[in-house]
Amino acid sequence: MSDIDEVKQRTDIVEVISQYASLTKAGRTFRGLCPFHSEKHPSFFVYPEQQSWHCFGACNSGGDAFSFIMKKQGIDFGDALRLLAERAGVTISPQFEQKAEGKEKLYQANQAAAQYFHNLLLNSPAGEKARSYVASRGLSPKTITDFQLGFGLNNWEALKQHLTERDYTESELLTAGLITEGEAGKTHDRFRNRLMFPILDSRGRIIGFGARALDDSLPKYLNSSQTPIFDKSGSLYGINLAVAAIRQQDLAVIVEGYTDVITAHQNGFDNVVASMGTSVTEKQVRSLKRLTKNMALALDADAAGEEAMLRGAGYENILDAEVKVIILPKGKDPDDVIREDVKTWRNLVEEALPVIDYIFNMATSKLDLTTARDKSLAANKLGPIIVEIKDDIRRDHYSRKLANLTGTGYNNMEAFLSKIRPSRKATKPRQKAVVSATHPLLSSPLEEYCLALLLQHPGLKDNDKGLSPEYFENSENREIFIAWQKTNDLPSLKAKLDTAIWKYLDSLVTKSLPPGSQTEPERAFATCTLRLREEHLRSLEAKRGEVLASEAKAGGTAAELAKLEEQGIELSVQLGEVFTQKNQRGQY
Ligand SMILES: [Zn+2]
Repeated sequence: MSDIDEVKQRTDIVEVISQYASLTKAGRTFRGLCPFHSEKHPSFFVYPEQQSWHCFGACNSGGDAFSFIMKKQGIDFGDALRLLAERAGVTISPQFEQKAEGKEKLYQANQAAAQYFHNLLLNSPAGEKARSYVASRGLSPKTITDFQLGFGLNNWEALKQHLTERDYTESELLTAGLITEGEAGKTHDRFRNRLMFPILDSRGRIIGFGARALDDSLPKYLNSSQTPIFDKSGSLYGINLAVAAIRQQDLAVIVEGYTDVITAHQNGFDNVVASMGTSVTEKQVRSLKRLTKNMALALDADAAGEEAMLRGAGYENILDAEVKVIILPKGKDPDDVIREDVKTWRNLVEEALPVIDYIFNMATSKLDLTTARDKSLAANKLGPIIVEIKDDIRRDHYSRKLANLTGTGYNNMEAFLSKIRPSRKATKPRQKAVVSATHPLLSSPLEEYCLALLLQHPGLKDNDKGLSPEYFENSENREIFIAWQKTNDLPSLKAKLDTAIWKYLDSLVTKSLPPGSQTEPERAFATCTLRLREEHLRSLEAKRGEVLASEAKAGGTAAELAKLEEQGIELSVQLGEVFTQKNQRGQY
């Protein structure tokens, strides 16, 4: 199963959309006020069976969970995929299909960009604001050089121009994530008016950038997009400067932010790396494990509990790492703590608790362990975590600890624990426990067939009239179609698409098609365009029908019912057109 399919299977569109709009159940659908346009009477519907949404009001458009997130957050398909993947606990594997020499060019482009940004920070008049920002954070000139910090001009084309003059093609810069494509297909710099943090791998190659806004722009921190050489969820900021210290001290300290790492290193704490704004991932722990088994997570006081439960304990078991937890003072990050007093930080690291002990403290802090009720509560909370511990000696240690805490005999505790069946699945770190059931996959063979035809017969390029992106209900298919419309060959098509779709794209390119479509591709394509349009109209009609039914039941006003009827008439006119065309073509 592909990563995209796995995310789809583990995502419930009703849960996703409920985070942004309040939905109420209406028959087999859910309805609410449209989150995309302002309205008083709800015309926004979610269809759990089709895992899709549609606004019958001003938007008159719809799609799946990906398109909803893309529209709502203003992000591209790849970022929406990663957001939903994280929510569903699915790891998106990077697609390293690019040839080595292609990758080499990407490293070079990043290196050239970093030099350009660094020079601007040190020398340009426009860099004054960035210089005073780094000065206000107390960063020394040596630190600025060590971390190759930089500044991106408040200009849409500065970097693009600089690098194209140095023989990098637009397509290479797009693939490297240094420029992005705007609405009209025009490319521009991704990072503008930002302080730049080059991200290096352990071999010292620049794989991407983090960038902090120097004005009110959002997001405050922006990263390179996923590229053939950059996978944020598997990279650690500062690792290039931390490798030696981590090995030597046999401990890696993981913080969240860029400045946390920089301030730590400036003050001599060289074994510190950052997960870059997100919770630490399994991939990051895996890559650290090559250097040390011992890791300490610096966690925010508020989020620490959940993080420790969901990730720390899980990583210990899955990856056989020793995870400790550093609890930061409320409202402070490591950068603040270190700048205030390095001793405090040193103590916090020294006093880091093994993750299971921390979970013990947390689970029992509000309990009165002299009462039978709370003893039982503690055992039921901690038991499931203890039975998951893989290492026998350690498991025994904590089972004794729980026996002591609850004043139960050891044998009694063992008997209690043996009744809790370990579920290996539960140890897998998950972002949120909301994901329970999975859905059957709703694939669309027709959409796939149509795309495969287009991809395998470049001659159809001038023939796509009548096919519209909205006929593709699956976002990944819609993405591929839109990119195909704008490009002329597979490499440039790939460059436009997120790497997470590449594997799927390749499967379409190599999909075997019926003989008829090989000999008469135009005819096959015309037929499948018609069928796609028909499928699209029929699905809309079915959705409208459900809405109409629930609307009538709920006593919708005459005006609303009339509007839905009107849309129905429009749909049947369009379906009529499809039938006429099918008749003319002899398809019944
Ligand atoms: Zn709407």
